[in-house]
Amino acid sequence: MKKEILGAKAPGKECTDQKCPFHGQINVKNELFKGTVVKKDINHSATIEWSRQHYVPKFERYEVRRSRMRVHNPACIDANIGQTVLVAKTRPISKTKNHVIIKIIEAEESKGTKK
Ligand SMILES: [Zn+2]
Repeated sequence: MKKEILGAKAPGKECTDQKCPFHGQINVKNELFKGTVVKKDINHSATIEWSRQHYVPKFERYEVRRSRMRVHNPACIDANIGQTVLVAKTRPISKTKNHVIIKIIEAEESKGTKK
């Protein structure tokens, strides 16, 4: 078991997930993304989203563009919808997943409405 990955401490819980970066057999690469969880599935998957500003010269204004990514949500971290998470690149886990959540950064005000 690893105690720390790229500055993210191991969560208090243990898990038996083989695709967990702390308790499983997976190595992460130093390529980090930050996003908010917008979708959560029962099979340890989640979708994160983040927005960026893109300048439109014709109107001299910014438009908001969004990026989405399918990520692995290990059982010991178990991020919920609305939480901001730190994600690291890893080997391909499934057809659409190449990244894994390593840390929950903060919970937004929607914490009271969790399912
Ligand atoms: Zn784990």
